[in-house]
Amino acid sequence: LDLKNVDLKKLSDLGQGNGGSVEKVEHIPTGTTMAKKIVLIDAKESVRKQIVRELDIIIECNSEYIVTGYGAFLENPNVCICMEFMDKGSFDGIYKRVGPLPVEMVGNIALSVLEGLTYLYDVHRIIHRDIKPSNILLNSEGQIKLCDFGVSGELNNSIANTFVGTSVYMSPERIQGADYSVKSDVWSLGISLIELALGAFPFSDPPDDDDLSDLEDYARETQKTPTYRDSFILSKKMAKRASKRKSRVPLGPDGGLTTMSIIELMHQIVQEPSPRLPEDLFPTGAEDLVDAMLLKSPEDRKTPKELLTLSWIKAIRECDFNIKAWAALC
Ligand code: ATP
Ligand code: MG
Repeated sequence: LDLKNVDLKKLSDLGQGNGGSVEKVEHIPTGTTMAKKIVLIDAKESVRKQIVRELDIIIECNSEYIVTGYGAFLENPNVCICMEFMDKGSFDGIYKRVGPLPVEMVGNIALSVLEGLTYLYDVHRIIHRDIKPSNILLNSEGQIKLCDFGVSGELNNSIANTFVGTSVYMSPERIQGADYSVKSDVWSLGISLIELALGAFPFSDPPDDDDLSDLEDYARETQKTPTYRDSFILSKKMAKRASKRKSRVPLGPDGGLTTMSIIELMHQIVQEPSPRLPEDLFPTGAEDLVDAMLLKSPEDRKTPKELLTLSWIKAIRECDFNIKAWAALC
């Protein structure tokens, strides 16, 4: 597919991140709806060209757990990346709309991301480097896919040493300056899963006492862990409260973390015990999986492929939870 900017008609804005913005577009010659990511690269023309060449690999990634890449091109001073449009958006937006996710959804996200990471690493020797809810997408077919993986060494370099490259999902070893490995992605997934299960970021904005007592009441009344069938009222209530609650981490004027709070958070990630799912609210298999992902030392932490063999992942594969029906509600 020979992608040219003139062939792309903008339909709407999908969102803005630190590194760029994403638009919903139509590729007029083929009538395909795509997501077009526009990244401003503050570097020489030769570096930008190199990045576009390296991005060609996204076309070769072929997995049901990875967003299909259509191609990349230069539109100076921007690099544009066109990919499959996922109509339910990313899970950060989803949980902020509907509240904490049912535990089966959390399990299916774990399964899909672990499969996606295993594919990227086994087949292409790619490490994702930016696992977080905004890079995990859902469509109304009920498919869960990864996007924004670090295929380009040059692109990684041009963002790695800036604050833009500093993420609250970073593993302790990464914060301490060690190299990335697939296991750093596993840490980031563990943090993301807790965030999705609680409907709040586990370090800065933990669920408050009202949230926890709602969850406990629910578990007691129904004699089971929070699940899909009737957790919707509960989710809505918590989402409403979370939107009113002020974040406990001081935010900068643009709504982002301030320099000071980033440093405090980094300190916390390295020094304090890892976050965990609150006890007795989730299946023990879910607790075990998240605990295994959040082992501090990368030597102890398992790879995505190894984690796919854990019992809860097996249970999730066999469970008949209908992702498509759930996606229709969000
Ligand atoms: P960061 O820049 O820190 O990585 P981010 O992932 O939110 O944050 P972008 O990657 O620029 O930033 O994405 C912006 C938003 O666009 C995402 O939050 C997501 O909701 C939406 N988005 C990205 N890719 C797609 C896609 N393929 N289909 C549908 N929506 C998408
Ligand atoms: Mg992204």
